[in-house]
Amino acid sequence: MHKYMLEWVMFVVMLLLPLSGYAQSSDSEADVAFFEPSLRVGILTNQPSVQISANANYDLVDTGAGKKLASFRAGDRITIGMQDGVLVINGAAITAKGIDVVVKKDDALYYIEQLVQVNKRRYRGDLSIHRTAGKAGLTVVNTLPVEQYLYGVIKNEISPEWPLEAVKAQAVAARTYAMANYNKHKADGFDVCSTTDCQVYGGRESEAPRSLEAVDATRGLVLLYNGKLITAYFHSSSGGYTENSENVWLTSLPYLRGVADFDQNCPAFKWEKKLTISEFNQAISKAGYNIGSLQAIELSPLGNPPVTSTDRGVSGRVKTVRLLGASGSVQVSGTKMRSMLDLKSALFDINLTATVPKTVLPAYSPNTHFINGNPTDFIMVTGFGWGHGVGLSQWGAKAMAEKDQPGNTEYFKEILKHYYQGVQIKKAYL
Ligand SMILES: [Zn+2]
Repeated sequence: MHKYMLEWVMFVVMLLLPLSGYAQSSDSEADVAFFEPSLRVGILTNQPSVQISANANYDLVDTGAGKKLASFRAGDRITIGMQDGVLVINGAAITAKGIDVVVKKDDALYYIEQLVQVNKRRYRGDLSIHRTAGKAGLTVVNTLPVEQYLYGVIKNEISPEWPLEAVKAQAVAARTYAMANYNKHKADGFDVCSTTDCQVYGGRESEAPRSLEAVDATRGLVLLYNGKLITAYFHSSSGGYTENSENVWLTSLPYLRGVADFDQNCPAFKWEKKLTISEFNQAISKAGYNIGSLQAIELSPLGNPPVTSTDRGVSGRVKTVRLLGASGSVQVSGTKMRSMLDLKSALFDINLTATVPKTVLPAYSPNTHFINGNPTDFIMVTGFGWGHGVGLSQWGAKAMAEKDQPGNTEYFKEILKHYYQGVQIKKAYL
């Protein structure tokens, strides 16, 4: 559609809309926003300098004053840096609060994909550069419509070559995460960052045709519980059963309940990690626990889910482990043990090579594993799954989608409703 025709159609549609800017959807429960929102993505922070370019002519504009600072031609590569607290463009100091990279949109360019480039990566949307809060370097923000942001996210979170219904389920979860995290990094001048802290976003270089297909097929769809956007956690593989949120992060969310998973084909479904007693002791002291050399570990044996032991969650994930040392003891959370020992998940069992008569420490529970101090002994950790185990399991979604009837293009909703209990799936915008 030609640009002016598109604008004319938008104008007519706007006249037909209620003044609120919202259109009542056919489903009376939800209002659907007419316009797709934009998202500010922090793609780099605290950089001494960045290289900028665009595939069309572009201006640099002072963010605060709106004044044009410089003009460049398509393909010109420039360097923006910070030197002694002053912004510099190609080595020349300027006085500006920040710099917007404004690509000149003319009729000729309307027919090509307009991209900006930062260092070696290309991005859709707009760019702005400002001083990193409290640091000496620069922050680069890529502002673009949510759907185009998702184009650059999906491939980093799930293989786009997996069954499309699984990729679509991931797209809805990723969109919900983005929509629920506006202003997460407000203090740094953007909404979401581009790392695993939020969702890994790589711009145009991270796009794949099937990612775009999954995003387009679910355009605007988000997950709600009682009318509010949910916290759409996802992970690689739960190890057979997902976990209640409060058993991992202490916050109980009604839609994040443990359910049966179908992730048995994940390569990390079952794993083992062998640690010597001295490696285990090093991990304990590195974590700051001064309990002396390890004498025993108290943890109930892992049974089949739903698990009811008080030290484990419903999936069997470790909630707490007791480590007993020569000069003290400490109770450690499963999440802490996972990071201390660098485990794929907190769903694990502990086995020792040495068996020590229970009479050595008779006061302890039958769940206690004793260590006899032989330096050649080791502790075998046997575990299941990869990740925190809360919400959508990607390997489980894949297995569900593989069993789906061919041509059922609504099956992603079944996947989402399994891993997020009691949710509604609605369009947030048209
Ligand atoms: Zn973040």
